[in-house]
Amino acid sequence: MDQGINRIVIVGAGQAGTTVAFGLRKAGFHGDITVVGEEAHLPYERPQLSKEMLQQERPALRPMKAHADYEGQKIQLNLGRRVVDTDANERRVLLDDGRAIDFDRLVIATGVKPRQLPDSLHDPVRVRYLRTVDDADHLRADLEAGKSIAIVGGGVIGLEVAMAARAMGCTVTLIEAADRLMSRSVDEVVSRYLDQAHRANGVDIRYGVQAIDLLSDGTLKLSDGSIVPAESVLVGIGVTPNVGGFAHLGITDAAGVRVDPCGQTAIAGIFATGDIASQPHGTGFGRVETWANAQDHAINLVRNVLGESAPYESPVWFWSDQGHINLQVVGNATQGTRVIRGDEHGDSFSVFRLDEQNRVTGCTSVNAPKDMAVARRWVKLGTQVDMNRLADTAAPLRNSAL
Ligand code: NAD
Repeated sequence: MDQGINRIVIVGAGQAGTTVAFGLRKAGFHGDITVVGEEAHLPYERPQLSKEMLQQERPALRPMKAHADYEGQKIQLNLGRRVVDTDANERRVLLDDGRAIDFDRLVIATGVKPRQLPDSLHDPVRVRYLRTVDDADHLRADLEAGKSIAIVGGGVIGLEVAMAARAMGCTVTLIEAADRLMSRSVDEVVSRYLDQAHRANGVDIRYGVQAIDLLSDGTLKLSDGSIVPAESVLVGIGVTPNVGGFAHLGITDAAGVRVDPCGQTAIAGIFATGDIASQPHGTGFGRVETWANAQDHAINLVRNVLGESAPYESPVWFWSDQGHINLQVVGNATQGTRVIRGDEHGDSFSVFRLDEQNRVTGCTSVNAPKDMAVARRWVKLGTQVDMNRLADTAAPLRNSAL
């Protein structure tokens, strides 16, 4: 370990930042570790916000670690605080309470925030976003039987909330600007399946439209002139990176804080991880907004912060639980030759994507976690498969590998 490293500051107390902090101690780092986080709550993982916490019986928030763990590991937590400026030459960050903290290594793990609707649709009482535990509590209070909710955005947030709202007995209208659901990450076949499943569950889905006016009679006007019930509105239209405090350093791009394969920015000793990191991705750079990346990139980053040079490479993988639907995606699930395994009109199937050499490059599984376990391995290894055997559910999936 590089003995010149005595003070490590981690900005962002989400999953990635917290994973780095405890990972540093596990790796034997004995110096100062300071974590600065904007939310007042102990750091927690976010999947529970759009799943368990919107259920009838709202369970208590599960923090990643207890207070005693931070004390025991001598990790200095500064919650309810933001970094407002960074001096890369002096190696110092400035907090919103005026305090300055010096660092030898800086880890930026500030994550992302929900992309906002235009100001004309701003209403702190009726219009909700879902990113924090406080957001989840407000939204949960809106979900009462018989009430109407308009959900803007048919991505992961919109669809998980649609299921929760229907389970609670709400009237749900979903407004998607594109022509299909989850177009960013899943195959068209899976979008069609989701459309049918959510419609069968009572969700009114409108495509190719946008919300344009919040009317005082509890409705919402759409760009095609139609009016939908909207006592409350939940917006899930993607995210923007939290680059404040670092934007002037010349290390950001359109997606976030640009890093090399080892998670280091263009400034030596300054790193980024989690959703904020614009990582080498395919032929370019981009954010990887998944729970798995926040964990695995952060675990790998620890070694690099302590002076090693350990590149990170792992196919994108995420899941979304929507009522009875367990959806999982690995790799690039929207391009390449499509092979469907199982009945796409049933409730369990997988859609594989192959490149020109019939190597598996991506897969979406619907209620088929066993397929996904194999697909993840294949995408990682670039395994070549026989297309006919892949589509034949009478034969074990693993027999398709060449
Ligand atoms: P998303 O990118 O998954 O989906 C946004 C959707 O909104 C897209 O379908 C897009 O076409 C649509 N859209 C964009 N602008 C619109 C507009 N003006 N009107 C109507 N529709 C519009 O983003 P999200 O669902 O907001 O999720 C936000 C973040 O939360 C992401 O980082 C996501 O990965 C994360 N998240 C992940 C999970 C999971 O992995 N299960 C669950 C919840 C949230």
